[in-house]
Order: sequence, then C-alpha cells, then structure tokens
Amino acid sequence: MRYLILSDLHANLEALRAVLADAAPRGYDQVLCLGDIVGYGGNPNEVVDLLRAQKPAAVIRGNHDKVACGIEEGEHFNDIARAAAVWTREALTASNRSYLSDLPRGPIDVGGFLISHGNPADEDGYLLSEVDALLAFEAVPFSLSFFGHTHFACAFSIAADRMTLEMLGEDQELPIDRAARYLVNPGSIGQPRDHNPRAAYAIYDQQASTVSAHRARYDVAAAQRRITDSGLPFPLAYRLEFGV
Ligand code: ZN
Repeated sequence: MRYLILSDLHANLEALRAVLADAAPRGYDQVLCLGDIVGYGGNPNEVVDLLRAQKPAAVIRGNHDKVACGIEEGEHFNDIARAAAVWTREALTASNRSYLSDLPRGPIDVGGFLISHGNPADEDGYLLSEVDALLAFEAVPFSLSFFGHTHFACAFSIAADRMTLEMLGEDQELPIDRAARYLVNPGSIGQPRDHNPRAAYAIYDQQASTVSAHRARYDVAAAQRRITDSGLPFPLAYRLEFGV
C-alpha cells in the first residue's frame, strides 16, 4: 500500500491542487490527512471540498479545524490566527462545518502505524525537539507515527541508544528500519515554515518500507491574493513567499 500523506493544508487551494498534481504520477493507493485543513488561507470551502473528493482513508482534526467549526474558541491563538479562525468560521458552509466537527481526534491507527496532528500523546502538543519526541516515544507505543502541526518536514528516529532528528529535503527518501521507531512530519501544504515555500507532502510505501518527502511548486501569488482579497491579515499572505 502506498499512502499519500497530507498535512496542514490551511485553506490554500493552489498548494493543494499542486500537491495532488505532483503526487499523481508517483502513484498512491490511499490518502491520509493529518489535520489543519482550514485556517490562515482564503479558500476553506474549496480545500475541504477537494480533500473530501479524494475520498481519504483517514482524516483527523487539527487545532485550527476545531476552532473553525466551533469545538473550541481559540483562546490560545495569537491575534492573527484568531482573526483567521473567525473569518473561516463565517465562510464555511454548513456541510463543511459539520464535516470538520465530525473529524476524529488523533492519534488513530491506520494499518499498523499512527497518524496524529500534534504529539501522539496530545493532539495539540508540538513536537519540536528531540526531548518532545523522546517523551512521545515513551508515552505511546508505536513503531511509526506521522504528525503535523509544526509545519516542518522532518523525521525523529530512535534505535537502541541513538536518537536522530533529520530535516527532510526535496525528493528525499527515508528508509524505515523495522528495528527503529519513527515520528515523521511530511511538512505543511498550505503554510510551510521550513524556509522552503513549496508545498510539502510525503508518500509512505508500506511494502518498500520507505517514506519519500516531496515539494510541489505552486502559484503563491494567487494564494496571496485570495488571502488579501478576503480581508485576512496581510502577514498570512506575505509569509507564504518565504516559507516561514
Ligand atoms: Zn497547522
């Protein structure tokens, strides 16, 4: 089975379209989504509709999805994220709001591995450092877990007494050693923050036991226009061209 793994789409339609076009010739059997489908970007309904049209095998909710559909109020969001969440909540159709509110909390098991939005031990927790990852490895039993939330394409791995954190470059293939344990972030489609503005995604080939990380070039200016034309805060548009 080959899984296309999508995370942190953030209502960026141009980026999601580019990822689907880039991934199609590589081939995949099923789509998985790690949450934050909406928030920040200017096309929440179009992105939810396009994701739903892929008939994903599993989708879990992100913190922005929870605030956009009213499960939470976003008290911990900064002013820009909250303004975007308020705008998104107004913009969502009833059908898409209900789709988001029905999404399960992570982590969930998908064919022998986990997917979560944040830390597998806490759906809203960030996995930024080796210590964060070490505690997650300790708290939850899994060999391989995919996560998002930080918008950095990277992989933590632990084997015997060795722990590594590797940033995943473009078209990089990560072999999954069955004797080790992994936490892999495919990176963000809609708002990458690892200084590479191209939309990030990954393909997990279960049979070959590899994860390949990819980036898709997209029309950043069009996504920026959607943000500014919608009256969303300007920094949400500006940061896209720098991938920060
Ligand atoms: Zn996010």
